[in-house]
Formats: sequence, structure tokens, C-alpha cells
Amino acid sequence: MYGRRNGGTVVLGGGRASARRWPALRRLPVPPPSYLRPCLDLPLDPLPLAIELMEHDSTTGHEAGVVDHVADRLMAEGWTVERIPVSPGRDVIHATASPSPTVTLSTHLDTVPPYLPPRLDGDRLSGRGACDAKGIAASMWCAATRLREAAFPVALLFVVGEETTHDGAHAANLVPNASRVLINGEPTESTLALGTKGALRLVLRCEGRAAHSAYPELGHSATSDLVRLLAELDSLKLPSDPLLGDTTVNIGQLAGGVADNVVAPWAEARLMIRLVSPAEEVLAMVREWVGDRATVEEGNSVPPVRLQALSGFPTSVAAYATDIPVLANWGTPYLFGPGSINVAHTMNEYVRVAELRSAVDAYERLAVAALDRETGR
Ligand SMILES: [Zn+2]
Repeated sequence: MYGRRNGGTVVLGGGRASARRWPALRRLPVPPPSYLRPCLDLPLDPLPLAIELMEHDSTTGHEAGVVDHVADRLMAEGWTVERIPVSPGRDVIHATASPSPTVTLSTHLDTVPPYLPPRLDGDRLSGRGACDAKGIAASMWCAATRLREAAFPVALLFVVGEETTHDGAHAANLVPNASRVLINGEPTESTLALGTKGALRLVLRCEGRAAHSAYPELGHSATSDLVRLLAELDSLKLPSDPLLGDTTVNIGQLAGGVADNVVAPWAEARLMIRLVSPAEEVLAMVREWVGDRATVEEGNSVPPVRLQALSGFPTSVAAYATDIPVLANWGTPYLFGPGSINVAHTMNEYVRVAELRSAVDAYERLAVAALDRETGR
């Protein structure tokens, strides 16, 4: 059980703002004991819910199992569930409890590989998705449960495909909705992000001419060309921004050549650039730098984003990209989540249980404060 019991009520830390406008947030009735409510198992503690979500391997492209599970569970809890199709078996889940909810809590159900099953070790929940982002989904779900009990106009939006092409968010953004506030969840160490860097994927390709490696003068090595080109990257001047910092470039994957004893006829580098300025500006700079020494293939990009602060919440800047720019039709965006991006995508992914639990309060306060600002109260 989560929450302080006080004379027949559970006192939930909704904060002063929420208590003033939504008094029910402060004094929810104690839910009946679990043996009396076999069909009404409302999630109030994000820990078991996070573990439940993490028991599904939902590496991007394989989210169908967790999506079905989440949809079924939300419907059993009385949410109206809309499934927004993305690709066969992969749907975005939109859960509502009132006709036109104005605040949407959203994060992603897909994860990066490899799958790591959940493990609880004291205050530490480890495994794939612990902080990115199934733990966050669980905290949001608990917060939405409380908000809904207080008749606050809240919705949940759980997307797929965030870790690769953002196809879930693209599909969700086409759906008409009345949302005026989007609270997106990614691990920000429980701070409100003031901005996020964007991202641009590029492939640089060099072409050579194969020859016997004993007679390199008869061919032309594409791998040598590519290595020389990439060596210049560190001295390339790319934009920086006072809030977001520097543009950075990661040489994520290299490939090329056909055999040790053949002069390489081809080579390619897959780059991921973290943007602090529009993608077109950086793309033009890269093309000018490369000239005719390679071809530049443009992959998908996400622009950098500037976000709002709210009083009472510590702030930060995130160097990673999120679904926020793609979900432009879901209202004024905010970004907040328990856990650290420093352990996301690693074999050591974890979140502290205490942080997961306090995020429930935080999402509840954020929802109320953000809607207050939106409606000018
Ligand atoms: Zn994430």
C-alpha cells in the first residue's frame, strides 16, 4: 500500500495547488482491502506495475505483447481504451476516463535491446525498461488513477517505436484530441527539463575500387578514404547553444570492405548527431565539409525542443531526443521522469524504488500545475 493512512483516508501528497483545486486528491477514501475487490485492482504502487510491464520483452518492433497486456488491464480498470494502429500488432494505447481530457501523461512501451528481466534488489529495480521507460509508465499510470478518482481530466498515452523511428508518436499525432498539456516521461532524474537536444541520423558512404591487396596501386581503398574523413570530425565546427550546449557527433557503426586481402571497394559510417539547432543547418554544414569525398544519406531527424519550467520543480537540460516534437498536437509539452539517462540503454539499467514512488506525486502535481497555467488560473 502506498500513501499515509490517516483516520480512514489515505493522505496523498498532491501538494498545495492540487489540494486547493482538486480537494479529492488530498482525501481519497482508503481503497477496500484487496480481498474485497478482486475485480478492481487499481494500481496505487508503481513497483509491482513496473515489474509487470518489464516482464514483457518489448524491444522496439516487438511491442505487441506488452501493448495487449496494457490495453486489457486498463480496460479492466474501467478506462476507455483506444488502440491507434501503427503496424501489424503494434498499437499506441490511448486511455481516457472522461469525454475530452485536457492533460495527457505519455511515455513509451518499447525498449532498446537486449532484453533484461526485472530484478528487485533492495531499493533498486533493475532490468530493461526500469527507467526507460516502463518504470515511468507505471508511475504515470498510478498518478492517472488518482487524478481520475478526483475527476481530473486526465488521459494516458503509451506509444511504441520511440527508440527508433518514433512511428508510434507519428501515428498518435494524427488522432484528434482535446489535450492542452502533454507530460512526457523520460528519465530526467526527477527534474523538469528546460530543453532537449534534437537528433539527426546520417550515413556517409565512400566508394573505392577493388584490387589485390598486394597491388594497392591498382585499386582505390574506400575504407582509407572514410577513416581519413572521419578523423576530421573532431575539428569540425558545429553550432552550440547557451541552453542546450554543443552539437555532438557519434560514429555509431562502421562497415566496409569485402576481405582482408582485397582493397576495399566500399565503406560506410552511420552517424548520430545531437542537435542544438535546426537539422537543415547542420546537414548543410556536413555536406559542405564532406564535399565530393563521400555521399551523405539523410536519415530521420528530431528537432531540438525548448520546454517550460513550473515553480516548485527543479530543472535540467536533456541531451537526448524524445517523442515531444512529434506529439505536437497533444498540447504544451513538459518533460519529467524518475531515473537517470546515464544508466538507460546500458546493461545496468535501474531506477530507485523510492524515486519511482515519489514520481507518482510529482506527476499528479505537474498535471494540476500545468493545467492551471494553461487555463490561466
Ligand atoms: Zn526513453
